[in-house]
Amino acid sequence: MKYCPMCGTPLAISFVAGRERPVCSSCSFVGYRNPAPIGLLVATKDGKMLLLRRSIDPLRGFWAPPTGYVEIDESVEEAVVRETKEETNVDVAVGGLFGVYSRSNIGVLMIAYYGKVIGGEALPLEDAEEVGYFGRDELPDQPSEYGGTAIDAWFADVLEDVFVRFREGRI
Ligand SMILES: [Zn+2]
Repeated sequence: MKYCPMCGTPLAISFVAGRERPVCSSCSFVGYRNPAPIGLLVATKDGKMLLLRRSIDPLRGFWAPPTGYVEIDESVEEAVVRETKEETNVDVAVGGLFGVYSRSNIGVLMIAYYGKVIGGEALPLEDAEEVGYFGRDELPDQPSEYGGTAIDAWFADVLEDVFVRFREGRI
């Protein structure tokens, strides 16, 4: 960040709130950098988990639950309901918190919920090449390799954790 997004003045580095940050000398804007929240929904129907095969990066070609960025005018629960509909056409009711996945310096954090499918035929829509329901002993194999970015590695770990917990019956 080189220029103030509020007034266009070049930013200078100053010590603010515990560390050096870009600060505007004109309007006092401080360039805080925080991870953006992503919602994920582990939705089940008759004991099977809803998964889509991703058509976009990160992890294009991997099977994953619906995920997406949380918009400013919605809660995380609302975001996962919306994303699930946009990506798979499936209607869901959100249950409890599944987990929070966070790692330093990747710019995002994941908040995952459980959910129940309440309607809608599963179809591959936005960001999805295929969709399907998978039981504990029929989870799809993932591609053997993925890209080299930190977010690829983190997201692969998230999906691995979801699959392991589902396979072991902890979902
Ligand atoms: Zn400014």
